[in-house]
Amino acid sequence: MKKRILTGDNTTGRLHLGHYVGSLENRVKLQNDFETFIILADVHSLAYPKYIGDPDLIADSILQVAMDNLSVGLDPAKVTMFAESTVPEIYELALLLSMLVPYSRILRNPTIKDEIREKELGDSYSLGFINFPVMMAADILSVRADLVPVGEDQSPHLELTRELAHKFNTIYGDVFKEPEGMIGRVARLVGTDGGVKMTKSLGNAIFLSDDAETVRKKVMKMFTDPNRLHPSDPGKVDGNPVFIYHDAFNNDKEEVADLKNRYVAGKVGDVGVKEKLVIALEQILEPIREKRSRYESDPDAVRGILIEGAKRTRKEALETLNLVREKMKLPRF
Ligand code: ATP
Ligand code: MG
Repeated sequence: MKKRILTGDNTTGRLHLGHYVGSLENRVKLQNDFETFIILADVHSLAYPKYIGDPDLIADSILQVAMDNLSVGLDPAKVTMFAESTVPEIYELALLLSMLVPYSRILRNPTIKDEIREKELGDSYSLGFINFPVMMAADILSVRADLVPVGEDQSPHLELTRELAHKFNTIYGDVFKEPEGMIGRVARLVGTDGGVKMTKSLGNAIFLSDDAETVRKKVMKMFTDPNRLHPSDPGKVDGNPVFIYHDAFNNDKEEVADLKNRYVAGKVGDVGVKEKLVIALEQILEPIREKRSRYESDPDAVRGILIEGAKRTRKEALETLNLVREKMKLPRF
């Protein structure tokens, strides 16, 4: 029997280059060897106050994120893709699991702390926001996944998932596997503004569905070495977002090495380095765009994939939940 993957994305807008190197590439690479479940986390998206009043955005993003996943090369004949809200068994499991974790444990979760700070949530976040990692554990454990390809920011949530699985198994008897995380080729891609993480919600992202002109404009506006005023000034490569992207996306390693040498020597301008980055990005993005346009012209086909995905996932999640109820001796009448 094949081992299982569960991974996915919030439905808070389209996917970007950070998702690509953080998780999507691994999903595509592993889809033949693992039974893969892709979750479109629309319930999780409600954890952010910003999206509470915007049901249209979340609903539309379900289709957009599904198309992003398909256009990078996930094969709907091989993977199961579903919207979180269509598998209500997950909520039931999340509530039961939430009884096993001290509240203070969640407040110490570094990703929760980062998000409160970065998204300026102050102390107005909801109980659901605090429950975010527990819901994620329920997503993963409901299909009894073995492997979870994610960006580095999700590692604390995975650690909690393993802890919850272990704790449940110890108290009630074996039901869950303790899933492993798998971090992408770039653990945490910086934003175009040099910010610690490219993220949908901070306006520092290059989206997989951006057209060529938009990509070009975003690259031309990217932050570089702030101390370099003229192309003849010696520039700094380390920590320079444009070179971080060259390392991540330019397959011509000789060109990257040459650009770095010339940049340090003050022999190439920022614009020249950015022009080459645009070309490198287009080699990745153009085929993705092409595939996406086929799905965009047939949204019903995408909906069909999600309907099938929900059926398949509900069957698995219900099996898990029945085992959980049995072990917990919850009555059946
Ligand atoms: P939001 O701001 O709504 O949280 P996001 O851009 O962080 O959006 P998510 O849906 O939270 O996107 O993330 C989906 C997956 O992509 C996760 O596994 C996450 O770790 C990964 N990911 C997101 N951004 C990056 C990034 N900049 N670098 C690497 N991985 C990333
Ligand atoms: Mg996120």
